[in-house]
Amino acid sequence: MPGGRFAPSPTGALHLGNLRTALAASVSARCRRVPFIVRMEELDRVTASPLHEADQLADLAAIGISSDGEVIRQSERFDRYADALSELMSRHMTYECWCTRREIREAAAAPHAVGTEGRYPGTCRDLSRAELDQRRASGRSPAVRLRADGSVVSFEDLVAGPQVRAADDVVLRRNDGVPAYQLAVVIDDDAQGIDEVIRGDDLLDSTAAQLLLIELLGLTRPTYGHLPLVVAADGQRLAKRHGAVTLAELAAQGIDAPSVRTRLLESLGWSPLAPIADWSTIPCEPFVYLPDDW
Ligand code: GLU
Repeated sequence: MPGGRFAPSPTGALHLGNLRTALAASVSARCRRVPFIVRMEELDRVTASPLHEADQLADLAAIGISSDGEVIRQSERFDRYADALSELMSRHMTYECWCTRREIREAAAAPHAVGTEGRYPGTCRDLSRAELDQRRASGRSPAVRLRADGSVVSFEDLVAGPQVRAADDVVLRRNDGVPAYQLAVVIDDDAQGIDEVIRGDDLLDSTAAQLLLIELLGLTRPTYGHLPLVVAADGQRLAKRHGAVTLAELAAQGIDAPSVRTRLLESLGWSPLAPIADWSTIPCEPFVYLPDDW
């Protein structure tokens, strides 16, 4: 059965950007008359917490969003991710990676690495037998990466338009053994019948790798819509220092949840009373949040 979803990581309070994405995704599912689910992406048990999860669900409810059926939690689905990873490993579509974040940053900043910002520079992709043995003997556990080999993927984005992007060698299993977001997300969207993924455009870059994984694992390809982020007046992503950015903070300033819902729908160009998911009205530029205007 087709469906839509909102998939937050319960690592803190939802801010206006998250709420705007959730609204767009749920309005779209309602317009299409398909189920809408909330999935908690709490793979990282160090940063995720049940308290944040409860607060996020309460905030969603306050602006009129609820999950059809039970809220799904990724921490309960590790077996499925492990099976998919074994399949990719047995087909030699993965490799082990010992790079630290710092090494990746430094390699990407090297003069010959122009245009590879944020992408894995390939250090561990083709290690010799001797290099592999040496790293394995070090006792440090490796992460497992997708051998994307720069595969180019194209797709039509509901908001961002036609896209042609190269898939990155994303991490599929972290070096602490925890399955990584990039793998879990495609498995869950497929298992839960999600045929439309609406999310923030900070994930636009990840979509090529996710589509490659979908193809390799024989999963069903959803339609994507990446919404421009909500930013503060300084052009930066919303953060605490920008003032009231969560429902609780806005409520303390006298702005209630229904008003927030109205303002967010208006920012998408959608009618607050009878919203229709019309992707052509969404501004391509980030939505600038000016607290004094609310
Ligand atoms: N859990 C991710 C996040 O909160 C979103 C994943 C997705 O929508 O694909 O950033």
